[in-house]
Amino acid sequence: MNDFDKYNLWGIDLGGTKIEGIVLKSFQEPKSLLRLRVPTEAHLGYEHILHQVKILVDQMEAKVGFRPEIIGVGTPGVYIPHQGQMKNCNATVVNGRDLKKDLEKILRMPLVLANDANCFALAETKLGVVADKYPDAEVVFGIILGTGVGGGLVVNGKVIQGKHGIGGEWGHNYLYPGEGKICYCGKQGCNEQILSGPALEAYYTQKSGNQISLQKIYENHLKGTDPIASRTIERLLTGFAKALSVVVNIVDPDVIVMGGGVSNIDSLYTETYGILKEMIFNHEFETPLVKAQLGDSAGVFGAALLANLPNSIKIMHPA
Ligand SMILES: [Zn+2]
Repeated sequence: MNDFDKYNLWGIDLGGTKIEGIVLKSFQEPKSLLRLRVPTEAHLGYEHILHQVKILVDQMEAKVGFRPEIIGVGTPGVYIPHQGQMKNCNATVVNGRDLKKDLEKILRMPLVLANDANCFALAETKLGVVADKYPDAEVVFGIILGTGVGGGLVVNGKVIQGKHGIGGEWGHNYLYPGEGKICYCGKQGCNEQILSGPALEAYYTQKSGNQISLQKIYENHLKGTDPIASRTIERLLTGFAKALSVVVNIVDPDVIVMGGGVSNIDSLYTETYGILKEMIFNHEFETPLVKAQLGDSAGVFGAALLANLPNSIKIMHPA
């Protein structure tokens, strides 16, 4: 006797070290019925990764007894629809390859491919901190602020994919043109190259000649003994508020949820309010800015939730 049926949602999270699979009961009742993982073993190459995904899906099928119509696949990389290529995936052998097409071929079934920011936003909305504390929120903006910077926009429980599949792609808006490294997105000075952990650490190193972690930079800033650390944190706080003001003026979210390493900087949750309200078209900014709850699990939960067909139609047929 098991709960498996055609309403189940299957998701795969393709990470740099492990590939995880999940079966959720349904979109309305997204509880986990099955969770399996296999190692990515990315050093063995692209074909090997595809094969590992197949092994995982075969194992899931053996437990469930059948395959779904479609599987959601989340990956930290970005799928560039018009090029049919992955970019910025931490399993770097995947970059430049048409992961969607190749996985569909080896699995012999359709899949929804989504970046981790969309998976994150959807998972936190349906199962994480938003579901927990702000269940009535209609517009949720999910932000990943870590090694990379990404965003996902969820409206009434659906991810906004957009005409080009770049809905919510907040990480590559121009922030300070000409500053920071030239990004793989083609621009210099996008949010990712100013606000990501590596970008902030590089800024600190450039100004001070010392190389320390963002966590240490933040500690030094709080102690008040390291003016360059304080400049770096102020760059984060001001830049973040500026970047966010663009989103707030357009979609005015009910909740903003943040994950990724840089989101552990507690000042983001307090200082942003004062800075941001000077930048938006309103005298007050009262939107809850909250830390994500699901941790690493958001990727696999979100991937499965995207397999809910109404959520996946747009991304199955990118422009
Ligand atoms: Zn960029």
